[in-house]
Amino acid sequence: MVNPCSLCDANCCKSYLITATAFDVLRVVERTGRPASDFAMLHQARILAFDPDSTLDMEDESWIYLLGFISHPCVFLEKNRCQIHECSPMACRRFPFMLDGLLNTRFCPLSSQLVFRLKGASITAEELKHENEAHKRIVKEWNAKPGKLKDCLSFLLKRAGEMRDSADSGLPQLAEKKKTGGKKR
Ligand code: SF4
Ligand code: SF4
Repeated sequence: MVNPCSLCDANCCKSYLITATAFDVLRVVERTGRPASDFAMLHQARILAFDPDSTLDMEDESWIYLLGFISHPCVFLEKNRCQIHECSPMACRRFPFMLDGLLNTRFCPLSSQLVFRLKGASITAEELKHENEAHKRIVKEWNAKPGKLKDCLSFLLKRAGEMRDSADSGLPQLAEKKKTGGKKR
């Protein structure tokens, strides 16, 4: 079946500032060899529509932050193609399907929407929710003992690696699936 995103000029990648989980960032680091600071940063949550459970407190900072990619359009978009399709964030893999299974039709051309309806989502809502919840557990750990902004990203990645590698996390299996699945723009 035709790739629905090949019928589009990556409208969504140009339109959203991509928020990511610590697991998303870790996978990109491992796959590309690029340091996280090259492509990820903590954004002030007040400029984004956000889930309050995903925000990170900072010691002595008056704002709370969300993890995301650095630029908008997305830093990994080149010539309307995603350069990290094998390890793109879970939210990108799920899009344009929302967690409730409905299609977000705001950016997809009609032809792409029709193909998505036939093809379905690349990952399930449960997979996305599972990883989001794991990310929120890490955020909670940080918020229980918040530190400096400069230390936060490394804390998130360290804990994501530890959690993913722990026997009962369920995350290694999820990470394996993502090596072959997902959207190829
Ligand atoms: S990571 Fe890839 S799919 Fe996601 S917004 Fe960036 S270019 Fe698009
Ligand atoms: S998900 Fe929709 S808007 Fe995004 S690249 Fe695919 S067709 Fe275009």
